[in-house]
Amino acid sequence: MAVDPLIELRNVNKYYGELHVLRDIDLTVGKGEVVVVIGPSGSGKSTLCRTINRLETIESGTITLDGRPLPAEGKALARLRAEVGMVFQSFNLFAHKTVLQNVSLAQVKVRGRRQEEADRRSRELLDRVGLLNQADKYPAQLSGGQQQRVAIARALAMEPKAMLFDEPTSALDPEMINEVLEVMRQLAREGMTMVVVTHEMGFARASANRVVFMADGRIVEDRSPDEFFTDPRSDRAKDFLSKIL
Ligand code: ADP
Ligand code: MG
Repeated sequence: MAVDPLIELRNVNKYYGELHVLRDIDLTVGKGEVVVVIGPSGSGKSTLCRTINRLETIESGTITLDGRPLPAEGKALARLRAEVGMVFQSFNLFAHKTVLQNVSLAQVKVRGRRQEEADRRSRELLDRVGLLNQADKYPAQLSGGQQQRVAIARALAMEPKAMLFDEPTSALDPEMINEVLEVMRQLAREGMTMVVVTHEMGFARASANRVVFMADGRIVEDRSPDEFFTDPRSDRAKDFLSKIL
């Protein structure tokens, strides 16, 4: 498969004190690829996402974005955080800012855009996620699904090279899950490079190029969704799938 790599982890190890939380992680995410990460609770999925965005440091190994090592600090690190958008389970919107202000803020502060330009882009993005008519509301006035779509618009406003999603629908009421997944499916179709931690196996089957199964800090399987779901190789994956499917 001749995909141009965007995110590459080589032999990455991370500890929390004594806990060896990422073990010899090798992972390549090609440009335009959608990689779904699944695995039991505590297997290191969130930590993996956070290391890619350098919200966590690593003890050994290398991580590169577009061929360059992740910057350690300063402006380059702020730029990296903009280039790799992250969406969390909790939406993390600014409660005292409107939806529009939430989407515009970092465009002005990090990207240095003029306010009017930022607001114009924000409206475009809010339109894309179906929330243009909510631009002047505050987060608390929105449903969870709407808040998560604002969080996605906010990340996209930075024109990221890749998007990381860490269980973006896990905190949502069931009837709101699909509206968020639909935005993610659309992004995938448009060719966004995505790493998605999720328990939504329907999304994995339909939108993922690869499924990465983690257990105890290791990548145990890294295969196409078709292969993984029809013929999981490891006992850990078989056991996990039998519990969730
Ligand atoms: P997952 O997202 O797959 O549930 P995490 O990456 O959140 O797993 O956690 C992996 C392991 O690291 C767990 O055992 C968790 O308790 C531990 N862990 C996560 N964050 C921290 C932290 N900040 N300090 C210490 N241990 C942590
Ligand atoms: Mg997690």
